[in-house]
Amino acid sequence: MTLYLKDATFLDWQTLEIRRTDLAVEEDPQKGISYPAAVPSPDALGPEDRVLDCSGKIVTKSFGCGHHHIYSTLARGMPAPRKTPANFTEVLQYIWWHIDKRLTLEMIEASALASAIYCAKNGVTFVIDHHASPFAIEGSLATVAGAFDRIGISHMLCYEISDRDGEGPREEGLAETDKFLAAGHQGHVGLHASFTVGDELLRKSVDLARKHDTGLHVHVAEDKADQDDSLSKYGRRVVERFYDAGALELQKSILAHCIHLSDHERDLLGNSGAWVVQNVESNQNNNVGVAGYGSLTDNIMLGTDGMHCDMLRSAKAAFLVGQATEGIGFDGIYDRFRNIHRYIREFGGRGDGDNNLVILNYDSPTELTPDNFLGHFVYGIDARHVETVIARGRIIVEDGQVTQVDESEVLKFARDMGRKLWHKL
Ligand SMILES: [Zn+2]
Repeated sequence: MTLYLKDATFLDWQTLEIRRTDLAVEEDPQKGISYPAAVPSPDALGPEDRVLDCSGKIVTKSFGCGHHHIYSTLARGMPAPRKTPANFTEVLQYIWWHIDKRLTLEMIEASALASAIYCAKNGVTFVIDHHASPFAIEGSLATVAGAFDRIGISHMLCYEISDRDGEGPREEGLAETDKFLAAGHQGHVGLHASFTVGDELLRKSVDLARKHDTGLHVHVAEDKADQDDSLSKYGRRVVERFYDAGALELQKSILAHCIHLSDHERDLLGNSGAWVVQNVESNQNNNVGVAGYGSLTDNIMLGTDGMHCDMLRSAKAAFLVGQATEGIGFDGIYDRFRNIHRYIREFGGRGDGDNNLVILNYDSPTELTPDNFLGHFVYGIDARHVETVIARGRIIVEDGQVTQVDESEVLKFARDMGRKLWHKL
């Protein structure tokens, strides 16, 4: 099957070069995209070939999310917690850990399906997720993977292992991770955070990551409390502790947040090649602080931390917060927005080839050129311009509608599961 994008304004996501061209998109990632001399006439098309008229539309590479939590999907609009959290630790205790302990595999499926639909409609075709459901661990990663696959979203998944619920869930988390990675899925060894991970678990997790040639995916110094805990229990700061455990030698490791770091930790991290994900909206929401990342490392991606599924929104938020913290420019924020593609390539990951594209119906009042594109990226282009999305050479969103499932049925399923979950809170 070949998709022909006729008369597209094609924006090369790396060079920002713009050209008016026809494009041929293949499902085979090796073939990816090409520039045919002409779109074949209707009688010369194969039975499954399609031609999409892209005149006046911008076509460019689709987007990716570096840190997501599908498990939070059913929290939207839920009843208030029994106690109003007074700090970050209480936010976890009274909100997130209260929810994730009550998730069933059915609720996880509904969460992942709904989240994948929102990702697709926002032009996000690749998600790195961090999943928690301490009393529905076995099969949870395969459930999330199956839901993402149904919508057409590529993924790197992990289970958020910790010691917070005792030895049972901890060992189940390790086993689920081992089984999932051994089955050939791409993903990480997920850990919650230093303050919920003892030394034995940390050691086992690094060993498991080595076994599967992957990295850890863990929250790091999101709140100052994580550092206080590490200093009091281990006499070292969080990044120092992970460094000593060998976690930073794993080049595929992802450290989310990294807000409260000392100069020594910044050096260790910056010299390691490990990756950092910035999630400013979540940080504002939890009032845990802000950080400038400019001098830390070039290996920075953007995430949503589960707050939503719109990476253009994340980029704009990070740009605005970045004015005060590090004076970030248009090019700096665009690089972070696009760094996920570099991460996936360096990881050797599948599902992010050139045949992942968005078609934007961008109604700008001003001219768009290679020289001013980044201004349009920061101030103009947003999710409502995403009209059609192509993932692995297949259309997964067309004219704003998902093509692989009946969205209203999925959302009804999600609302049913949401009611069940809220009833248990
Ligand atoms: Zn997170």
